[in-house]
Amino acid sequence: MKITIIGGGPAGLYFSYLIKRDNPDYNVSLIEQNPQNATFGFGVVFSDRALEFLRADDEYTYKYLSPHMKSWSDLKIVHKDKHMAIDGNGFAAIGRLEFLNLLQKLCLSVDVKLEFNTTIQSLKEFDDSDLIVACDGVNSIVRKSLSSEFKTKETILQNPFIWFGTSKLFDCLSLTFRENSDGVFCAHHYPYSSKMSTFIVETNSSTYQNVGFADMNTEESRIYCEKVFAKDLDNHILLSNKSEWRWFPQIWNDNWSSNNIVLIGDSLHTAHFSIGSGTRLAMEDSISLYKSLKANPTNIDEAIVQYAKSRRPQLEKLVSASVASAHWYEKMDVLMRTLSPYEFARSYMTRTGRISDEKLKKIAPRFMEEYMLSQTE
Ligand SMILES: Cc1cc2nc3c(=O)[nH]c(=O)nc-3n(C[C@H](O)[C@H](O)[C@H](O)COP(=O)(O)OP(=O)(O)OC[C@H]3O[C@@H](n4cnc5c(N)ncnc54)[C@H](O)[C@@H]3O)c2cc1C
Repeated sequence: MKITIIGGGPAGLYFSYLIKRDNPDYNVSLIEQNPQNATFGFGVVFSDRALEFLRADDEYTYKYLSPHMKSWSDLKIVHKDKHMAIDGNGFAAIGRLEFLNLLQKLCLSVDVKLEFNTTIQSLKEFDDSDLIVACDGVNSIVRKSLSSEFKTKETILQNPFIWFGTSKLFDCLSLTFRENSDGVFCAHHYPYSSKMSTFIVETNSSTYQNVGFADMNTEESRIYCEKVFAKDLDNHILLSNKSEWRWFPQIWNDNWSSNNIVLIGDSLHTAHFSIGSGTRLAMEDSISLYKSLKANPTNIDEAIVQYAKSRRPQLEKLVSASVASAHWYEKMDVLMRTLSPYEFARSYMTRTGRISDEKLKKIAPRFMEEYMLSQTE
């Protein structure tokens, strides 16, 4: 069997590893446009019981990756200078480059052919592949070239964001909300190594216009954001890595395949970064496709059908949670101005509609106790 994988992000690397590990006789090659040691952004965080999703299906990889992660259990929300810890979460973070390098090593250990510095422009050269797995991310050329067959839907979310890093080491995943005369800002920040933290700044459309970010270069935006979060950064600077203002594209495809071409990861769907699940979803897609192929080793068509059927329900739930989460941030100006710190934090925790007050009491008893106390003050 000849399998071609396009894109060497988490989805492509992990799927390549799984399929080749179980089928050493398969011809599995992965093509990536970037050099081996390049990536965008800084660290990524895994929420919702961190890497637990891997444990049941792939304990070896779970044990291999876990020691490289920074993990913690609280989430912190800072609003009106009140620092509120929310217990019972469970996050783990890692530098994106380190993560990709670890997955690349796994691939090499089972003899996946990794080809870097090669940009795919057309699928014609892969006519002899039995299966083509498109893992080429949010701007997927494969998806775009067949968008009517995949029935792609794309909506651009309203809030601009910019992805920085910093040497300031925060103690956990924190969401810090700040306001100035131009408008409102939220920083999503967390440590991902012993030296670095991710620091994503999100704002809303009116603030973006009031500041005039559109006319600023990256350096000017960086300096402006440093001033907004000066109190939180503690004299540390923000660092950029291809950092620019972006608007998150919400992508979904009604059809997940076309003939022997199948989409996984961000090329298939996106999930707003505020739920910290894009990488996890990409890896879960890989597991799902791998399992379907394992169950149907001689019938690729059936495997692809089974992959979409088994994966779709769970994915739909998470994607709709991510949309609800993104929309909460689009209202952050009103929420920041009208809610007290504890009301604001509770609103944040229940924003996706998946967590009720009752559930929150079970997950975060310490926080809910403080919340109840704040109601009596
Ligand atoms: C600001 C921000 C913060 C985020 N934070 C988190 C987080 O904290 N936690 C989390 O889980 N997720 C986070 N995500 C989402 C996460 O980065 C993605 O969901 C995840 O990387 C998807 O993996 P993937 O393999 O599908 O795609 P990608 O990681 O995008 O990989 C696609 C790969 O394909 C390659 N490629 C593209 N086109 C071609 C081509 N034509 N030829 C060859 N190669 C090609 C690209 O170079 C890339 O390496 C964040 C995203 C953003 C924008």
